[in-house]
Amino acid sequence: MSREHRDAIIVGAGFAGLYALHRLRDDLGLRATALEAGGGVGGTWYWNRYPGARCDVESLDYQYSFSDELLHEWQWTERYPAQEEILRYLQHVAERFDLLRDISLDTRVTSAVLDEASTRWTVRTDTGEELTARFLIMATGCLSVPKAPEVPGADTFAGTVHHTGRWPHEGVDFTGKRVVVIGTGSSGVQAIPEIAEQAAEVTVFQRTPNFIAPAWNGPLDPETARALGVPESFARPRIARGRGALRALLLDAADDVPLREQLGRLAVRMSHRAPHLLWLAIVAAPAQRAVAVGGPLLRRGAVAVVQLQPGAVDRVGRRDVDAPPAEVAP
Ligand SMILES: Cc1cc2nc3c(=O)[nH]c(=O)nc-3n(C[C@H](O)[C@H](O)[C@H](O)COP(=O)(O)OP(=O)(O)OC[C@H]3O[C@@H](n4cnc5c(N)ncnc54)[C@H](O)[C@@H]3O)c2cc1C
Repeated sequence: MSREHRDAIIVGAGFAGLYALHRLRDDLGLRATALEAGGGVGGTWYWNRYPGARCDVESLDYQYSFSDELLHEWQWTERYPAQEEILRYLQHVAERFDLLRDISLDTRVTSAVLDEASTRWTVRTDTGEELTARFLIMATGCLSVPKAPEVPGADTFAGTVHHTGRWPHEGVDFTGKRVVVIGTGSSGVQAIPEIAEQAAEVTVFQRTPNFIAPAWNGPLDPETARALGVPESFARPRIARGRGALRALLLDAADDVPLREQLGRLAVRMSHRAPHLLWLAIVAAPAQRAVAVGGPLLRRGAVAVVQLQPGAVDRVGRRDVDAPPAEVAP
């Protein structure tokens, strides 16, 4: 077993880990190493490759601001970037700042023990390394461990099961398949329209309806991106004000039952006029608890194959998934 000493060890190579490595090594001059369980950098955007995975924060905001050069040279192609584009961006950052030479991929930290007398951490990994360091930075994210639903019988299911947080790198072909999706949070809302494009039948189990505000995504005109992306106008007060107002409205709505119900009714009315806004109606029953911003719209052709089942899944059989009957207000 090798045993090496560093000034700092960083666990994780997502947005936080990459930046921490850059700051500690290149600005503070520390000997730093990042240890990453995944086979590549990117964190959230390395693991979450489900169809439709996309950021619900605008690309010009969802990027680093520590380097003017980076801000100038990277061109986002869409207002709300897809997983693949964010992953490409983070790979670019890792290469551009020569971070990869100090990142060990496919290396999971299994223990970290502090010796209080010497104020040294001893960090062990599943690859058999043992490192010591004065500083240990856990850039492990808050959503990097997938949680499977604890439903009786789930382990007996005879079909194929996928979790959005550990999607196969080669993708999944749903052509002609009957698919059940459990959950209509951000990931479910993004994945369902894409799965419905291929599948023969999609049944969506929804325990808790959320509001979904359409993202109005689209290509990012290079002129606009250049103008908005330059560091001197990074604050973009006009856009920030608009976004602030939307956020305030949605956050207010989360605690304000009458307002929530009003928004819900509005969404249902809109979806009658424009069937491709079905998602708004699906998620806007007046019992919402949370608010999710963003999400694509269900395209016309896919509406027919999607069925909504209100209620939590309470049992999984060998061949099917079931929920108790539930009442949902129209
Ligand atoms: C599906 C999904 C969609 C999201 N969408 C948005 C969005 O639209 N807007 C937004 O602002 N935020 C979004 N987030 C939140 C997103 O996680 C953060 O924006 C950001 O990417 C977190 O970066 P991070 O570096 O802190 O953590 P992560 O990106 O989670 O990176 C942590 C890394 O630590 C590694 N790791 C964990 N434990 C160990 C260990 N023991 N040993 C070695 N490595 C380990 C993991 O493999 C992972 O690569 C989303 C999250 C998810 C899961």
